[in-house]
Amino acid sequence: MNSEFVEPLIHWYRAQARDLPWRRNKQGYAVWISEIMLQQTRVSTVIPYYIRFLEELPNVAALSRVDDERLQKLWEGLGYYSRARNLKRAASDVMMRFDGQLPLRYEELMTLPGIGEYTAGAVASIAGGVRVPAVDGNVLRVMARLLNDSRDIANPKTKQAVRSALLPILPDDAGTFNSALMELGAMICVPNGAPHCETCPVQACCGAYLMGTVGQLPVKSSKKARRMVEKTVFALSAQGQYIGSKRAETGLLAGLWQLPEVDGILSDEAIAGQLSIWGVRPTGDLLIYARKHIFTHIEWHMRVCAAEVETDLSHWPEGWIMLEERMALPTAYRVCLPR
Ligand code: SF4
Repeated sequence: MNSEFVEPLIHWYRAQARDLPWRRNKQGYAVWISEIMLQQTRVSTVIPYYIRFLEELPNVAALSRVDDERLQKLWEGLGYYSRARNLKRAASDVMMRFDGQLPLRYEELMTLPGIGEYTAGAVASIAGGVRVPAVDGNVLRVMARLLNDSRDIANPKTKQAVRSALLPILPDDAGTFNSALMELGAMICVPNGAPHCETCPVQACCGAYLMGTVGQLPVKSSKKARRMVEKTVFALSAQGQYIGSKRAETGLLAGLWQLPEVDGILSDEAIAGQLSIWGVRPTGDLLIYARKHIFTHIEWHMRVCAAEVETDLSHWPEGWIMLEERMALPTAYRVCLPR
């Protein structure tokens, strides 16, 4: 692979990189937490979560001991809660197998729950100074354009090919190079809309720019359409608290709190009927409205019934409780609360 772009890229990064909290702390634990939080999540969303998380759980030992309920609360609103569960599992592993010190070798990082090739590469290179690439969707897009490469970036073989091609051109400071590629993908060679080629530091050696193929790259085979799920959700409050229950320990939003719900979109009459089946007595009017929540592979289309109800726990279905502020309610249900 042509390595012409490496120097100007690093030079640009050193001069222009955004000042982000995780770039001020290059310790393995901090880099690890930031990389996990940044998966599928915007930088601006992650910043307050990252700061709060590190303040409360400043090291592996603290993370390994944190109460599950508290961990969910720290993650509330970030989505993909399995990331938080895996962080804690990995922290326990590190306590047992690595004496509480997060390993910085790529191969050892890869043995920890929730850490894949990209995260292991990012942590090992940024925190450990290891010469190893970190290739995610962002980097794949940038490399497809830089190399004028029309292979399908959704194909895992393309990812492996890009990793192999990057290995020999990685500079000694691979962490800065990897960060620079990510920054270029976030700020200049952007995913949605046209990339900002006119201000790009590697324009002079970009294959797609020189060949006039920027608009056609990257090639990415389309994902399967999301599955639509219809349901009716009940935002029932009593004495200022919402009623909820725990979800099953497997599947979507496993083990998290939820609002009462039934499959399908119920009519107004069926909603009233469902409340009486549950033994719930509203104390005023029912407020009915629609809400939607999009997961990676599923879309929830919800009809929501919000109501103040009598507090009569004895009639409620088993497992229902009054949710407390310390309990995390996933965004998919939080959007159902009346505004
Ligand atoms: Fe991306 Fe344009 Fe820069 Fe090429 S010149 S890397 S397409 S922003």
